[in-house]
Amino acid sequence: MESTNLLRNTQEELRQAVAALGLPDEVYDILAEPRRMLEAHLLVRRDDGRTVRYPAWRAHHNNARGPYKGGIRFHPGVNADEVKALAVWMTLKNAVIDIPMGGAKAGVAVDPSDLSPRELETLAREFIREFASFIGVDRDVPAPDVNTNEQIMAWMMDEYARMHDDADIFAIFTGKPLALGGSQDRLEATGQGVAIVAEAAMRRRGLAPRAARVAIQGFGNVGTHTARYLAGRGIAVVAVSDVRGGILHPRGLDVEALVAHVRRTGSVVDFPGTTPLTNEELLTLDVDVVIPAALENQVTESVAGAMRATVVVEAANGPTTPEGQAELDRRGVLVVPDIVANPGGVYVSYLEWVQNRHGYYWPREDVAGRLAAAMERAFDTVYELAQEHGTNLRQAAYRLAVGKVAEAMRLRGWY
Ligand code: NAD
Repeated sequence: MESTNLLRNTQEELRQAVAALGLPDEVYDILAEPRRMLEAHLLVRRDDGRTVRYPAWRAHHNNARGPYKGGIRFHPGVNADEVKALAVWMTLKNAVIDIPMGGAKAGVAVDPSDLSPRELETLAREFIREFASFIGVDRDVPAPDVNTNEQIMAWMMDEYARMHDDADIFAIFTGKPLALGGSQDRLEATGQGVAIVAEAAMRRRGLAPRAARVAIQGFGNVGTHTARYLAGRGIAVVAVSDVRGGILHPRGLDVEALVAHVRRTGSVVDFPGTTPLTNEELLTLDVDVVIPAALENQVTESVAGAMRATVVVEAANGPTTPEGQAELDRRGVLVVPDIVANPGGVYVSYLEWVQNRHGYYWPREDVAGRLAAAMERAFDTVYELAQEHGTNLRQAAYRLAVGKVAEAMRLRGWY
């Protein structure tokens, strides 16, 4: 992954936001890098008897507004710079969606598909043994991210509890199974939030959602739930893709049947009644809305130049390069940036933390209703700021987030 660029690009956005807000350079200096970062080497005895060492990091970016919060990613390409960039985004995202939490992230350089279930559990528990001193219910609250899930959170929570005299520490992790203090709607939340924001963006563009056509790159957790929610609202999802390729149905896919097909075959390809297409073709299809929900750096300058959609909603983190954004701005395309489009998951994680701390659990409708209201509020605030200042939504979102974090830092006396 182009992680050095991700960090550099984010720092450039931060620099511009600090300057536009008339804040002192110290604010940029504090936000440009994490407050601290712990690096460890996790030792796992493999099933064949060998001990293998996996590099791991947790970055604490900023906690001016509340405890550090961010996911744990297991991926062979993960590195220190990527973890730093992802931690910065968490601080910004949490400020945009307005939860009282700061930003953190962890990564372990491992290919989890290469591990047996026992090896994976050992790795998860080893992560906690190395990083326990860094985390805490009021200090740093981790969650799942790419290639980590509810089961991994359950093992990590159990290991932490064993190390701390079996204290009730449900609130130390979010994204847990329902049976262990998880929240209703957590799994679906990021995709639902993306879909809610996509609909709001269509309206601002004067597109009637029921008449719009949407293409989604990536059909994992986020892409699937985005597609389901949109289809449930009567909005046509005409194309989706995954790492193996894409499919098109010009009148709209039967998303529930597609989900069943993916469950059976492991991929969207060969879904009956559809035309195959490549990932690049999907991004440049003749549709109204494109939702990149897979990877970083997908919408490059050349892809942006060929795109026909008038709205792009960034479900993935960092899918648009700065050159891609500039080209889309030039062509008048409305880009809803990642820190506005995808905080639904962390928002419901925050609600999970609140429920754990009170020992009182809300029904799905309550959680989903709060999520919808928070996403709409954040989108509207950023959209109106962008109108007021004549900027794109990314610049407006960075200004909103940096302004909130800077105010908290000033009141604490950090500058
Ligand atoms: P996932 O692993 O469940 O799904 C990723 C999808 O992308 C899969 O369908 C995969 O096949 C596809 N993909 C991989 N490489 C591809 C390629 N080269 N071309 C096209 N498709 C490809 O991951 P996810 O949890 O859905 O996350 C997707 C993105 O959303 C990531 O950028 C992640 O950081 C971001 N995100 C996720 C959450 C969350 O709650 N899961 C929250 C915020 C942001």
